[in-house]
Amino acid sequence: MSQATVSGRGAARWRRGHPWIYRSDVRVEPTGGAPGVVGVDDERGALLGSGLYSPTSEIRLRMLSRGDIAVDAEWWRDAIAGAAARRAGIRATAHRLVHSEADGLPSLVIDRYGPFVSVQLLSAGLEAVRSAVLEAIEDVLAPTGIVLRNDVPVRDHESLPRVVETIGEIPELVEVDSDGVRMLVDLRGGQKTGAFLDQRENQWLAGEVAGGDALDLFCYEGGFSLRMASAADRVVSVDQSARALSRLAENAELNARGNIDAVQANAFDFLRSAETGGRSFRTIVLDPPAFARNRRALARAMAGYKDLNLRALRLLDPGGHLLTFSCSYHVSRQAFEDMLREAAADSGRRVVRVATLGAGRDHPDLLAVPESSYLKGTLLQAIE
Ligand code: SAH
Repeated sequence: MSQATVSGRGAARWRRGHPWIYRSDVRVEPTGGAPGVVGVDDERGALLGSGLYSPTSEIRLRMLSRGDIAVDAEWWRDAIAGAAARRAGIRATAHRLVHSEADGLPSLVIDRYGPFVSVQLLSAGLEAVRSAVLEAIEDVLAPTGIVLRNDVPVRDHESLPRVVETIGEIPELVEVDSDGVRMLVDLRGGQKTGAFLDQRENQWLAGEVAGGDALDLFCYEGGFSLRMASAADRVVSVDQSARALSRLAENAELNARGNIDAVQANAFDFLRSAETGGRSFRTIVLDPPAFARNRRALARAMAGYKDLNLRALRLLDPGGHLLTFSCSYHVSRQAFEDMLREAAADSGRRVVRVATLGAGRDHPDLLAVPESSYLKGTLLQAIE
């Protein structure tokens, strides 16, 4: 195995549990420079462990194991089996099995969709050992088929192509059961790995608080709408994508829910005309896509979030709930809450925070990596 040497600063960071070593902290690149698993030592020659090496990425090394432990077929099997065992209590047939750094498997994502799995290999180092990873997945999880959803922009930083591949037979749509709601998922072309699994527990919560008229903004294929539909009289589901809404209609039929009205519209426009039309709702879900794609876009993104939240608060019935989210990596929880405070102040409503929300328990984040916590949410209630 070839060896990399890292600076004192890199070594200290690694010892404190942050699994990344940046380019500037690599003193000696591995001989040959090929991506894959390499040994890592510090400048005094002490062995730190082994990691995934990405020769063209700013994140050069990602820690796999500490000390003198071989990363072999058995290691991959144990790591994946350990991650699956930690989620043993989750009954939903679609959930995340491996969440990268938090499972000690940086740059690897594995999602279960019933008997199928969806995999993302997000670094050049990991891509170089894909056969070992896929064999371990076959051995431990014995899936009927595997989809490799490697069609994601982060692969560009690793000089890897964006591609979708399949192993075994993958049906066009896979049916999953998520806490009693049936959903059809397109594993090849759906957003993320097919569905927004990180929102599963929040979708369940939305079902708990729903009643009367509900509004699901940015509804996609109905993750929130379908849960609210069992408790609410009517659900108005808004998305700009006709394709997402037609899948929502199929999902509504599958669950025999006739109380969902799908509206193809821009959510900003919908809110404006709902206000003009004097409409109100007992429950509103606001789950927009990431507005801040980078730091420069932050100010505009915050204005967008504030506009949406302010308008949504105005539409709430007295006692009504707003479940509001931001999945922008660049928006901190503090910034998100400050924005909500301003929206609440401008709305003229008395608003309380009922709960602080984040991604579900199958998407933990490593405390040593604060940047991995991207989904922020709050359950608000307008008390008058
Ligand atoms: N709440 C969903 C996930 C939402 S993903 C779930 O839990 O499954 C974001 C969605 O917002 C996508 O379906 C996209 O089509 C939609 N979208 C993006 N911009 C929009 C806009 N301006 N108005 C309405 N929908 C929009």
